Amino acid sequence: MDITGMYKKCGISKEVFDFGEKILKGLSDRFDRIDRTAEYNQLKVIDAMRKNKVSEACFMPSSGYGYNDVGRDTLERVYATLFSTEDALVRPQITCGTHALAVALSSQLLPGDEMISISGKPYDTLEEVIGIRKSIGSLIEHGISYKQVDLKEDGSFDFEGIKEAITPKTKLCAIQRSKGYQTRPSLSVSSIGEAVRFIRSIDPGIVIMVDNCYGEFVEEYEPSDVGADMVVGSLIKNPGGGLAPCGGYIAGTKECINRAAYRLTSPGLGKEVGATLDVNRDFFMGLFLAPTVTAGAEKGAIFAANIYEKLGFEVIPKGDEERHDIIQAVTLGSEKAVCAFCEGIQAAAPVDSHLTPEPWDMPGYDCKVIMAAGAFVSGSSIELSADGPIKPPYAVYFQGGLTWPHAKLGILTSLQKLVDEKIVNIYI
Ligand SMILES: *Cc1c(COP(=O)(O)O)cnc(C)c1O
Repeated sequence: MDITGMYKKCGISKEVFDFGEKILKGLSDRFDRIDRTAEYNQLKVIDAMRKNKVSEACFMPSSGYGYNDVGRDTLERVYATLFSTEDALVRPQITCGTHALAVALSSQLLPGDEMISISGKPYDTLEEVIGIRKSIGSLIEHGISYKQVDLKEDGSFDFEGIKEAITPKTKLCAIQRSKGYQTRPSLSVSSIGEAVRFIRSIDPGIVIMVDNCYGEFVEEYEPSDVGADMVVGSLIKNPGGGLAPCGGYIAGTKECINRAAYRLTSPGLGKEVGATLDVNRDFFMGLFLAPTVTAGAEKGAIFAANIYEKLGFEVIPKGDEERHDIIQAVTLGSEKAVCAFCEGIQAAAPVDSHLTPEPWDMPGYDCKVIMAAGAFVSGSSIELSADGPIKPPYAVYFQGGLTWPHAKLGILTSLQKLVDEKIVNIYI
């Protein structure tokens, strides 16, 4: 059986396959560049592992207090080397990206301090962490004040606004690298570097934290390479490589990580405690795979952008735009189309492919949301997944794919659904 036969077996018609191949022909240079970045980052990861002498002993489980967990301590040194920071905190006890960010923020900010988000409105879940939406235990509840400087119309930093916002009370500036689920462009590492230098020129004492979620390994440099004091992210996104079953990381200066560790565990205990049970091997191996996994996800995002752009839909980022994260938004324009798209992603999944996703009232949202995910790790968004709020403009946000062939199959299956339901016409 040739490959079209195999695709046919997986539910993809010859026409849809051919349409995809035509799009792919125009992407080979792009894909080559992504492979180059993955190659660079793979070397960076191996180099960090060699430098820190990762050995078989690092994979032993620990229990109880987790004193002298060689694997955990070595992994944290590997992350520090990789991110060019003095230290790092990489723990299964960090439950998710939001938690990592909450620990990072609350460890640096004391009552009376002020934080400024200089990349506009932060990711949804941070609204409650900060207290922009009233919530128990927020920073605002703890006497910390918050200001926000929006990005300019073109998505760049508003340096005038930042300068005006900074006062002697300003303790921390937060920057979000990825657009998350907003329609602004994501920020490049070099533009983050520019902002870091600008803030330092005003007040070198301000702590600069970057929400690095979805951005790791997309470029050859990370925000900590250009001077950020802390970079923060989730292990069920890029750096876990699909293998980490949970966890988050904070990499940064010795002082920042010290404070974060005391905040995560307890004053007096810090990094010394925290059993890793049996996750060390997955954390190491996931990190080892992360550069190529991220590359596969990025190819999927670009492939989808180009397909839907060709079919006349609005896509963010655009098909030929430079990328700084792995999220792709496609505005499909109707509930029916959003559902068909998500059904396609679900049907192509290795897990739960027999289920049909349906819109539901998800907590924290003001409309129904449909979600497609057939993941090995629950909620993992480095695995192929899509979600669409059921409200105008009816956009789907999709990301991930542990391998490029899987991302490709997912996207083609979505397209097949849209073609079958006569929502799109590929015979153009
Ligand atoms: C995913 C994400 C978060 C939060 O991570 P969770 O693991 O979902 O809590 C924060 N910021 C950005 C930009 C993200 O993409």
